[in-house]
Amino acid sequence: MSEPATDSSRAPFVRARSLEVRFAARAAIRARGRGEVLAVDGVSLAIERGETLGLVGESGCGKTTLARVLLGLLRPASGKVEIDGRDIFAMSRRELRRWRRDLQIVQQDPFGSLDPRWRIGAIVGEGLAIHRIGTSGERRQRVVETLQRCGLPAAALDRFPHEFSGGQRQRIGIARALALRPEFIIWDEPVSALDVSVQSQIIQLLLELKEEYGLTYLLIAHDLSIVERVCDRVAVMYLGRIVEAAGAERVFRRPVHPYTQALLASIPAGRPGRRRRGAAAGDVPSPLAPPPGCRYHPRCPLAMEVCRREPPALLDRSGHRVACHLAAGSPH
Ligand code: SF4
Repeated sequence: MSEPATDSSRAPFVRARSLEVRFAARAAIRARGRGEVLAVDGVSLAIERGETLGLVGESGCGKTTLARVLLGLLRPASGKVEIDGRDIFAMSRRELRRWRRDLQIVQQDPFGSLDPRWRIGAIVGEGLAIHRIGTSGERRQRVVETLQRCGLPAAALDRFPHEFSGGQRQRIGIARALALRPEFIIWDEPVSALDVSVQSQIIQLLLELKEEYGLTYLLIAHDLSIVERVCDRVAVMYLGRIVEAAGAERVFRRPVHPYTQALLASIPAGRPGRRRRGAAAGDVPSPLAPPPGCRYHPRCPLAMEVCRREPPALLDRSGHRVACHLAAGSPH
């Protein structure tokens, strides 16, 4: 699969090339003596510096696995990840460690991602201590400044996570990522565990920080109303593959893939930020035994005979990429 097009002639800040990630599947091993899940299947993408790419799809489609590969936390079976033109899996441990300062992730669960035994100052300052940045006084000052920028008082420093609300804990998680002054942040469902009223404030903070610090974002979300508000471009994943990718406006105004259309149809009018289940009929098939041909065919209302046999290629029409036999013969 080729990557989403960009209009820049220089190398994108983040580039993934033909990534494949396989996991041994315990259930299959018990049943048949072997088994494997192809969690990410031939994914390529590019993110320009200062851009926000939205990665959307239902649970289990491979979004978080892909994010872990982009951060260098998981080695792919094949393919490459380049950050600023450098292959992160060809780096020495020391170089990779240095790069990890610049690549951060903010996770979905503001309750589970903070160690309840640690004070906030230690949590937010942990990365600074690990990377031996500044003196202890300078680190404390950086932590205070970062907490305040994220909307928390300096007094939060000496308190514990259980003393804060869900929204405040997510601000602490954001401060922890921001303290290292990274260049690239992956937001993994950053607001889906929060109340609707708090979601909006966190999204606003995320937008402000991007401008202020010149950050590049990958936003993983199943909530398309948030993606529409935040992202410059969108890539839609289904069972380990990208099925549609284009500029956000184009995807939201003229979605081509039936799966993207189903996801968009599931956004309830006038209810931004509300959690919902995708409108695509049926459940996502097991990644242990993905359907042959187009993986979406068992759920696709437009499926044809060819869809059951042949996987559609991801074709590019003026920067709008779609993997669907129906779209193959017509302009997007
Ligand atoms: Fe539906 Fe066929 Fe297109 Fe797959 S290739 S999305 S089954 S029409």
